[in-house]
Amino acid sequence: MHAMVLHQPGRPLQLEDRPLPLPGPGEILLEVHACGVCRTDLHLVDGELPDPRLPVIPGHEIVGTVAALGSGVTGLAVGNRVGVPWLGLTCGTCPSCRKGRENLCDRPLFTGYTRDGGYAQFAVADLRYVFPIPEGYDDIAAAPLLCAGLIGYRAYRMTGEGAERLGLYGFGAAAHIVAQIAVAEGREVFAFTRPGDLAAQELAQRLGAAWAGGADEPPPVPLEAAIIFAPVGALVPVALRAVTKGGTVVCGGIHMSDIPAFPYRILWEERVLRSVTNLTRADGLDLLATAARHCLHIETTVYPLAEANQALDDLRGGRLTGAAVLRVDHS
Ligand SMILES: [Zn+2]
Ligand SMILES: [Zn+2]
Repeated sequence: MHAMVLHQPGRPLQLEDRPLPLPGPGEILLEVHACGVCRTDLHLVDGELPDPRLPVIPGHEIVGTVAALGSGVTGLAVGNRVGVPWLGLTCGTCPSCRKGRENLCDRPLFTGYTRDGGYAQFAVADLRYVFPIPEGYDDIAAAPLLCAGLIGYRAYRMTGEGAERLGLYGFGAAAHIVAQIAVAEGREVFAFTRPGDLAAQELAQRLGAAWAGGADEPPPVPLEAAIIFAPVGALVPVALRAVTKGGTVVCGGIHMSDIPAFPYRILWEERVLRSVTNLTRADGLDLLATAARHCLHIETTVYPLAEANQALDDLRGGRLTGAAVLRVDHS
């Protein structure tokens, strides 16, 4: 099979011919049709994540059809369409797993990081960690749901029930999905983009944002919550200043540049600053049910598998609006 392989952080992925992986007990082999390009992949390739299993095939927003079943697999048949997220496996026995917080598992495997992912024609996944894909989404549109959507949704839920005015810092793949869910649930969305990124601001407004502007601008009204999707630590004090008393700021990324020192008074008055880490399978089922209900518009830029480096480069350079997705052909 063709695969894009990371041998060393800081170096481009290499297009290689790899032997077809075999599904072990409880695993399935997927024919990959589409794989989203997530900012986490960029952090992996740029060497900003610790201890990747090298060489590794990146990609954790996989949409494909079942091509073969490992031993003991029931409930899925060859040809079924499923999605594979970042959370590849958890131990089930560590303190976090036992408390229902498998996103914080001590001994996890992550797709496209510590086990091979979907920048390839085929991928293997554990049956217990894959999701059915809602019918209203084609393969390309469904791929970004599996991380941008999922992690975005978990971050969104952490902003609390009562937060009606929601700020989104960094309006890329995750924010454009969250914005639509928030608007559908009656919230007002304020979209903060890179200064001057008019395409992202226009997309935000088209998707129902009440306001869109640069992250260097204050919101027109105080926010009740904010999510920071951009990997920019300097946005933490900016967002804290933008939220009102009792407001929550959620950091949605796996990596962020250092946060500058800030005065305690912008955290005081019971503002909450927190991160979101990985996902649980319950988050995945919730988000996909929400996506099925609301028929979200997923804005994508599509690249062939062999151009994964270009997709990563465009993401790094901010030249994308919405989500980048690799189309994986089998001819
Ligand atoms: Zn565990
Ligand atoms: Zn991701």
